[in-house]
Amino acid sequence: MVDKLHYCSGCQQYTMHDKCPKCGTETHIPKPPKFSLVDKYGAYRREVKKKKLIEKGLY
Ligand SMILES: [Zn+2]
Repeated sequence: MVDKLHYCSGCQQYTMHDKCPKCGTETHIPKPPKFSLVDKYGAYRREVKKKKLIEKGLY
């Protein structure tokens, strides 16, 4: 069973193979997106900032 999805940077397509069946380029396992995590913390920081502004009566 193949459970890992590979990505061909040549075709910009996902494949189950170590090598792209279309162009023969070695595929790699894409890294999980990090921006969602960063955005999550960014939203948290904004929320904290907002609360501080509310406390000071500036919001
Ligand atoms: Zn390819």
